[in-house]
Amino acid sequence: MTADIESVAVLGAGSMGHGIAEVAAIAGYDVVMRDIEEEFVEDGYEQIEWSLGKLAEKGQIDEDPDDVLARVSTTVDLADAVDDADLVIEAAPEDLELKRNIFAEVDAASGDETIMATNTSSLRVGDIAEATDQPEYVCGMHFFNPPVKMDLVEVASGEETDPAVVDAAVAFVESLDKTPIRVRKDIPQFVVNNVLTPYMGEAGFMLDEGDVEIQDVDAAMVFQRGYPMGPFELNDFGGLDIFTHSRDQWDLPVPGSIRSRVEAENLGRKTGKGFYDYEDGNGVDYEPTDGEGIDTLRIEARMINEAARLVGDDVADPEDIDIGMRLGGGLPEGTCRTADKLGLDRVLEKLESLHERTGAERYEPDDYLVELVEAGHTGEKAGRGFYDYSDGGPYHFISHELTDEGVLNVVFDREERLNAFSTDMFDEVRRVLESADEDEVACVVFEGAGERAFSAGADITGFTTAEPTDLAGVDETVQAIYEYPRPTIAKIDGFCLGAGLEITLACDLRYATEGSTLGSPEIDLGLIPGGGGTQRLVRLIGEPRTKEMVYRGMQLSAERAEEWGILNRAVEAEEFEGLIDDVVDDLSNGPQTALEVAKNVIQEGQNASLDTGLTLESQGFGLLATTDDMLEGVAAFNQDREPDFGGE
Ligand code: NAD
Repeated sequence: MTADIESVAVLGAGSMGHGIAEVAAIAGYDVVMRDIEEEFVEDGYEQIEWSLGKLAEKGQIDEDPDDVLARVSTTVDLADAVDDADLVIEAAPEDLELKRNIFAEVDAASGDETIMATNTSSLRVGDIAEATDQPEYVCGMHFFNPPVKMDLVEVASGEETDPAVVDAAVAFVESLDKTPIRVRKDIPQFVVNNVLTPYMGEAGFMLDEGDVEIQDVDAAMVFQRGYPMGPFELNDFGGLDIFTHSRDQWDLPVPGSIRSRVEAENLGRKTGKGFYDYEDGNGVDYEPTDGEGIDTLRIEARMINEAARLVGDDVADPEDIDIGMRLGGGLPEGTCRTADKLGLDRVLEKLESLHERTGAERYEPDDYLVELVEAGHTGEKAGRGFYDYSDGGPYHFISHELTDEGVLNVVFDREERLNAFSTDMFDEVRRVLESADEDEVACVVFEGAGERAFSAGADITGFTTAEPTDLAGVDETVQAIYEYPRPTIAKIDGFCLGAGLEITLACDLRYATEGSTLGSPEIDLGLIPGGGGTQRLVRLIGEPRTKEMVYRGMQLSAERAEEWGILNRAVEAEEFEGLIDDVVDDLSNGPQTALEVAKNVIQEGQNASLDTGLTLESQGFGLLATTDDMLEGVAAFNQDREPDFGGE
């Protein structure tokens, strides 16, 4: 919980309202949920009860679900709901007049310092705030559906919102264990929907022009460009009426191919038919081989133009846009990052040629995009684009920290994909090892963000079109970990599969919680481990077990993996942090030179003959016999005290 906010009122018990109430209660807040009819609040309450039961079944909440539910109360009386609330979150239907009435009532019935947030998807915060006497207390807090699962929340300022209110809203979102991004200007649809709408819209315009097939466009975006759903598939999923409404509201053009379907009430999945036919047809039916010759850049250029507009107008930073697109839009990487890889000059050219051909306003290149290109900031190759790459560029998929004790903690930070490795993520891991000052590092700990996975493997989106050379980075990264001169530790909690397992095999020490799962499922994709997995495994656990794991794509429990010798230890979750702390403590206070020599001798020796190995060992021993650390170790032993190694 945050210091300023203890009790929360949620207005609306529908799809979003009950979900928001649930996440707030899970985080420890007292929540009052309000709807206009007893029946609706009851429904919402039952949904929360059901969902909490499911979360408990899967071990995804620590508390007894009844205790969480006990923090939720319901009412149909607005004054009752907001009277004591520090924060009110409105999740009523998307109707400006309705929301304005609600906010006016909330303003009158709540305390002077109550923060009033709207979960609107497409309205301006200021238009709603106007109905209150305290617009400085009103902000946007845009959760994604379903709130329990979706990690992103856009926190938006209206023109008059007090920055302290935005800060408190951001802190509240963080206290829910969700990721906030800041939307600094009051624009309809915030960040994610603004960048994602052209994905579906542009595909619609291409269809209007008549020379593409639905399946080809979807297949190209999914299999060539790695998007999780094709644009038509996504539009069917979200509802063509929702798309159209969000455009019409602001008088923005809607492709004829979308409008005509809405008029025929073919709204997508929910009506059984949209771009695909889900009742009488095959549903979504594109194949990996479809999509030849589709102009994917045309679709991405429009998304990138939108992202440039948001950055140029100071609505959001590239980092926040990219986090938003990953967590809220399900994209494998952020749009600004994609742009920097594609080359902003190519993007600009594409927009200019489309603009010239059609004259349509939507292709008019944004000023900021033009500025970047004119300044030579055309992307990663040029050293600068949306991001600055002069120092290698920002880390998007890992976070890292070097402690005063010399522990380099590296977190695989792609929780939305169970920390699956993209090529960028492999590169970032290698880069962090290369850039850390080895003299400052005593040991490295690798772990996965969140509670579900160390890493679920390599991200297979894009595999179908990847060149063998694209995948070479995998091996280089795994090798860089193996050869890193300091001790490396894999701290495994959850899934550790495929490339995730290969990373751990390259580490010196491997520890896991008992509920973790380790395996090599590559064979199920028609592949074999490609990051040294077969070779390191066979040296570790022998041929029969390696073959069984690889041939059958087996996934082992942590207990079994310990028994087989893959793990140093598997322990109960409660003991895990303590165990890692002990190991890290030993390594960071140990004699650094001796540890380095030990690592080198053990690794080099096991791939050589026994004689060579023994020679390596005695050379290492001889070398260490002259170090200050050795003298300190012996002195400490004689004086019966802890040694204080200086690393010489
Ligand atoms: P919904 O129709 O499922 O639920 C809205 C609920 O609000 C209904 O139960 C309705 O009875 C209730 N309601 C109506 N008037 C009310 C009032 N005066 N006070 C309290 N409750 C009232 O709608 P939803 O999908 O939950 O959407 C709610 C809001 O969240 C909308 O602004 C929508 O744009 C936004 N949103 C929706 C999604 C989504 O995917 N569904 C995602 C993000 C944001």
